[in-house]
Formats: sequence, C-alpha cells, structure tokens
Amino acid sequence: SREIRLASRPVGEPTSENFSVADVPVGEPGSGQVLVRNTWLSVDPYMRGRMNDAKSYVPPFQIGEPLQGAAVGEVVASNADQIPLGATVLHFLGWREYAIVDAAAVQVLDTTIAPAQAYLGALGMVALTAYAGLKRIAPVKEGDVVFVSGAAGAVGIIAARVAKHFGAAKVIGSAGGPVKAKRLVEDFGYDAAIDYKAGDLDGQLALAAPDGIDVYFDNVGGDHLRAAINAMNRDGRIALCGAISVYNATTPPPGPDNLYQAIGKRLALRGFIVGDHQDLAAEYAQLAAAWLKDGSLQYEETIVDGIDNTVEAFLGMLKGTNTGKMLIRLKSA
Ligand code: NDP
Repeated sequence: SREIRLASRPVGEPTSENFSVADVPVGEPGSGQVLVRNTWLSVDPYMRGRMNDAKSYVPPFQIGEPLQGAAVGEVVASNADQIPLGATVLHFLGWREYAIVDAAAVQVLDTTIAPAQAYLGALGMVALTAYAGLKRIAPVKEGDVVFVSGAAGAVGIIAARVAKHFGAAKVIGSAGGPVKAKRLVEDFGYDAAIDYKAGDLDGQLALAAPDGIDVYFDNVGGDHLRAAINAMNRDGRIALCGAISVYNATTPPPGPDNLYQAIGKRLALRGFIVGDHQDLAAEYAQLAAAWLKDGSLQYEETIVDGIDNTVEAFLGMLKGTNTGKMLIRLKSA
C-alpha cells in the first residue's frame, strides 16, 4: 500500500522533490478501529501551510511522515460495532491507499443523495466554508453586491450559490484566465466575471460594480483584497477566508496599503476557520440537499487519477489547474 510522505519542507513554491512515495504493509485495525480502502483524496490549499514548521491552527506535517487530508473510502475490515463492513466513509487520513482509522474519526456517508466524493466538495468542508463565511462572518443582506475571489475554485463556486440564497442582487467573481472567467457566468451562477490575469483589478471591478460592493469573500489576499477595499461601500463586510496569493511567499507580504479606508467606510474585516462553525453543518446540508434536487448546486470537480499523481495535482491546484474541487480518484473508486 502506497503513501505519500513529506520528504523536505518547501521553501517558496513546493516541488515534487519535497515529497516521496513509500510502500508500507496494509496492517490490521485494532479494537475500535476500521481499515479503509481510500477511493477519493482531497488536496487543499491549507496543506501548503502545514508543510511549514510554523505554529498555526493545525500542527505542521512532520518530515518522513505520511501527509494527512480529507479522504473518502470503503471500509474493508471493521473492529468497530457502529461501522459496518462495506460502508462508505469520510475521514482525515488521506494521501495514502489504505488507512487505519479510529471509529470516532470516521463519518459514514449517505451516498443516496450525492456521489461519495461530493462530501469532499459541495457537501463538505469547502462548502461549509462558503456558507459560514456569507452567513456569519460577512453576512449577505437582501440586495447586496457581493464580490468573490478564487471564484472558480471549490469554495468560490459554492459561495456564489450561497450569496444568491441570502438575496444578493449581484455576484461578481474573479478567476484566472478567460476560460474560467467565461465559465463563472455561463456555468457557475455569477452575474459578472473578472479575469485577474488580464490586469487592472480596480478598473475591472469598477466596471462590474459601478455602485460599489457590499460584501467581499476573500480567498486570495494581496492585490484582490486591496482592490476590494477600494470598491467597498459604507458598512461593507469582508470575510477573510484565504490568501492563496501569498501562501508561497518567502518574505512577509505587505498588507493592503489602503486599509485606512476601513475607518471612513466603517468596514468589518473578519478572519475565520471553518472548523469553528460546525454548528452550521446540519442547516447547510439541508439546503444543499434541496439545491441538489432542483439542480441549482454546482459540484464542479477536476479529477486526477492515481495516487502517483497526487503530488502533481496538489502542485497544479496551487497554480489553478483545477476548476471546482480538485480530487484524486484511486483505481478502486
Ligand atoms: P481552490 O479550488 O480555489 O483552488 C485554489 C485556486 O487558487 C486555484 O484554482 C487558482 O485559481 C487560485 N489561485 C492560485 N494562485 C492564485 C493567485 N496568485 N491569485 C489568485 N488566485 C490564485 O481551493 P479551495 O476552494 O479549496 O480554497 C480557496 C481558498 O479558501 C484558499 O485560500 C483556502 O486556503 C481557503 N480556505 C479557507 C478555509 C477556512 O476555514 N478559512 C477552509 C477552506 C479553504 P485561478 O486559476 O483562478 O488562479
């Protein structure tokens, strides 16, 4: 059974040299544990942060140890009464073909409402992130103009749906390149799109939102945050969700030089971590089930096959090779 390990800590942009693949015995589950054959692995931007030896809200990965992340799989041996053989489960020992997991760390999935891998995307943590961000952190009110960066990604696509649910009058998305920008409007429910790679974020945002923006959902940081602050209306709200444009920075990136505008505009900027908002999971799941039924929930996925391509998929996701949720499908899926 293969597993992917951290071989060395990346400095700046990670490369395949920072990872190694090891073949290890499958092992037997102990009492209260299950053996899971992983079928889908998630790769996520926050994993880049765990590759640094830095204090954060999750502990760093250790060199020589397998990486971890959300995964879906099938229970092939069970020593836990509550988890039946054959169950499809969600757990957090990804980046490997087989995992031995404590029953308490396993969630049995209902695959009748959506395919199993949707629990890594539109029904998973990334979706709850979008929901918590726009319900609680930067609440969207009826008639608001909402701006979302990282708009064609896993969190971003759901954010557009959620913003509409809360009554946004207009949702503007920013993504890299003309193909993604076009899809924002044609496929993902955005009213207007910005291709940030074409430059002049301020100008493009002014054109898309001539009356300014009320809510900004920030997945990117850097220039996007600066442009959003310039475009914010009075009493605007900003959810600081991610800052992918600076995750590979080797020197501390400068803060937005126009932050002082937050005073006159009475802005609220608030960071958050989805794990603190699990209390919203049931309510989101109910909404998502209804949206799946009426076809209004996009669960766009970019699928890469094979454990050997996991690292490449992770590195690609950091550069935007994905649209929607980046997933690894293992042979057995
Ligand atoms: P995505 O599916 O959005 O994938 C990452 C995307 O980032 C790429 O597709 C790429 O899209 C974009 N990107 C990469 N570099 C840049 C750049 N320099 N400028 C602008 N965009 C860039 O990932 P997720 O949806 O999983 O995550 C989105 C954000 O949400 C991340 O910042 C992540 O850390 C954060 N997050 C935060 C959580 C929380 O609890 N606070 C929980 C989950 C995610 P493009 O081609 O458009 O450039």
